[in-house]
Amino acid sequence: MDRIELENRLQRACKKDLSACSDAELWGGLLSLVQEMAAKKETSGGKKKLYYISAEFLIGKLLSNNLINLGIYQDVKEILAAHGKSLSQVEEAEPEPSLGNGGLGRLAACFLDSIATLGLNGDGVGLNYHFGLFKQLFKDNKQVEVPNPWITDRSWLNRTDITFDVPYRDFTLKARMYDILVTGYENRTNKLHLFDVETVDESLVKEGISFDKTDIAKNLTLFLYPDDSDDEGRILRIYQQYFMVSCAAQLILKEAAAKGSNFHDLPDYAVIQINDTHPTMVIPELIRLLTAEHGMEMDEAIQVVSRTCAYTNHTILAEALETWPMDFFKKAVPQLIPIMEILDDKVRRKFDDPSVYIIDKADRVHMAHIDIHYGFSVNGVAALHTEILKETELNSFYKLYPEKFNNKTNGITFRRWLMHCDPQLADFITGLIGDGWKKDASALQALNDPRFTGNIKILHQLLAIKEQKKEELAQYLKETQGISVNPASIFDIQIKRLHEYKRQQMNLLYLIRKYLEIKRGKKPTTPITAIFGAKAAPAYVIAKDIIHGILCLEEIIAGDADVRPYLNVVMAGNYNVTLAEKLIPACDISEQISLASKEASGTGNMKFMLNGAVTLGTEDGANVEIHSLVGDDSIYIFGDRSDTVIARYKEGSYKSKDWYEKDPALKEAVDFLTGPQMMAVGCAENLNRLSHELLSKDWFMTFPDFAAYCAAKEQAFADYENRTAWAVKMLINISQAGYFSSDRTIEEYNRDIWRLEQQ
Ligand SMILES: *Cc1c(COP(=O)(O)O)cnc(C)c1O
Repeated sequence: MDRIELENRLQRACKKDLSACSDAELWGGLLSLVQEMAAKKETSGGKKKLYYISAEFLIGKLLSNNLINLGIYQDVKEILAAHGKSLSQVEEAEPEPSLGNGGLGRLAACFLDSIATLGLNGDGVGLNYHFGLFKQLFKDNKQVEVPNPWITDRSWLNRTDITFDVPYRDFTLKARMYDILVTGYENRTNKLHLFDVETVDESLVKEGISFDKTDIAKNLTLFLYPDDSDDEGRILRIYQQYFMVSCAAQLILKEAAAKGSNFHDLPDYAVIQINDTHPTMVIPELIRLLTAEHGMEMDEAIQVVSRTCAYTNHTILAEALETWPMDFFKKAVPQLIPIMEILDDKVRRKFDDPSVYIIDKADRVHMAHIDIHYGFSVNGVAALHTEILKETELNSFYKLYPEKFNNKTNGITFRRWLMHCDPQLADFITGLIGDGWKKDASALQALNDPRFTGNIKILHQLLAIKEQKKEELAQYLKETQGISVNPASIFDIQIKRLHEYKRQQMNLLYLIRKYLEIKRGKKPTTPITAIFGAKAAPAYVIAKDIIHGILCLEEIIAGDADVRPYLNVVMAGNYNVTLAEKLIPACDISEQISLASKEASGTGNMKFMLNGAVTLGTEDGANVEIHSLVGDDSIYIFGDRSDTVIARYKEGSYKSKDWYEKDPALKEAVDFLTGPQMMAVGCAENLNRLSHELLSKDWFMTFPDFAAYCAAKEQAFADYENRTAWAVKMLINISQAGYFSSDRTIEEYNRDIWRLEQQ
């Protein structure tokens, strides 16, 4: 479509002269235009279809991404500009749906983009949470949670006529399917199906994010993962999960039947990717439907379903592997119990190792065990993670089914995480190597060429783009959050969910140490801005204490004229995709400091690398692969390695107090947490609890890595002083990021697991 026609169509969609439209009106007009264009690219697709079932899809704002994928971004931007409008302002009118916690949900969103981009027949299936996760506010240096409504009159959500009944023990709920169109980059359109309950009642939410957890018909799709600190919250998750998978199973059977399946051949029509264990009940539910409603024999139904389902594991944290008491199923979905008992019984007949049973001695159901026994593929999400699964966490399963285990290192979509969030950098790259990288990310390797890495002018252009992004971020933080940062400082950024294993507390201890050093007169050559962004789960007490600690230090430094010019600590509020898109392009140093063996992959690390930040990290998750791609000179690796950590856990010998006693700098930083300055701005209960946790437990071993972390960080700051040498590191990182395109990941999923025809 040419510019003039595009302009005419936009004009019609807006129903008035573009110059006279408000940003919201322009957004609405673009929404209709994009929906119409995207819908034209739907295809009936091949015989076999992928269903990517996930409790989370952290999709972010969709307008720009869709404009890019439809190939009209530049034209729309110029048309708007000609009418005195700015596309980035128009984008502000779009609310971000917070349908995910973090990496796992964002991964699902990147995957949908790549599935459509590769022309594969695959849809997402999830839930339509009205208030998403929650919106984070800060009050008295503490996190406060409020609902994050995102469904407006006009939105990307399209109501469909498809409804299903979902049966629970005491009642049946009516589900309705809503669709969001998923555009591929210059390719087909797929769908994200989000199911909702007809009877949901938003007025149930009272103070903050609290609501009556027992009124399932009204509350089912209000929030993602409602607070699971009590049994009522936990059972609600069972209701949610079953709702999601029952709808998915009914949809899958309906679509397969429409294409001619007699269900004996279901694996020719459908493949299901189970994203973490939240959708696991799809296995017994499909078996139930095939036997109870379609007359299939139990043994065959189990066979058919096992050949249809594949499972992705995202964690080795034992506490994150779901197990549910049988009682919960009795209360909510008793119809699944006989099937789960049969599945367990078959396992017991075949194997005499209780560690692989589905139902354990305490009558708890191990969801991952269902997936592994009754799925045909089990994958980890980074090379190290898959190896640890095979060797330790899931070793007894690996011995039973070595052929099921495979690795699929995560990836990110470069449309959103480069073309959209840093168009200047994208154009700069294209100027150097052409735009082949947009379709084949491995082409970025051409940047690793002495013609570029040895060219001062080019390196300085790269630095200038980073400077521009830092200025834009500074302005954005000022306007949206009232936060001041100095764009001439080093931007050292740690943004991710708040979790002890990710070790924001180690960064906090470093910053306390830095503060004290500056106080004593040792000033950094270039000022440092440490930026955090992190939501803590509402019931995760220590995570919230860490946020409190960071906010208290922020306040102390803001009030200290000696230190303020050299060190600034800021916690940006409500970390989400939109904020990530602003922070990542502006980053110099990417903090990826999880305890080795604990971060399955990470994808934030990949986004930063792609945008020319240099990683400061442990040998964990995909950092290991980043390290081997960029080499020792373009990354700062520190700390104990995963084998050391795993051995230390095994011995049970770790005593954090010993490390505290023998390292005076560490001791001083830990003592500061409960010293008079922190107590003056913070809350004794939280600060004491955090300090006590570190001194009595420190389960994620921050103390043993502390000295190495500080040394690596000082080295990075020192190296930053040679800007040209730093720019080479930046360019090397960008050049090696191609491997982390989710297009590569999805090609591997399709090659090894899904086997869909490409169209
Ligand atoms: C990428 C992303 C994550 C995952 O970050 P990690 O550092 O890999 O944990 C979480 N939240 C948002 C909003 C993201 O964009």
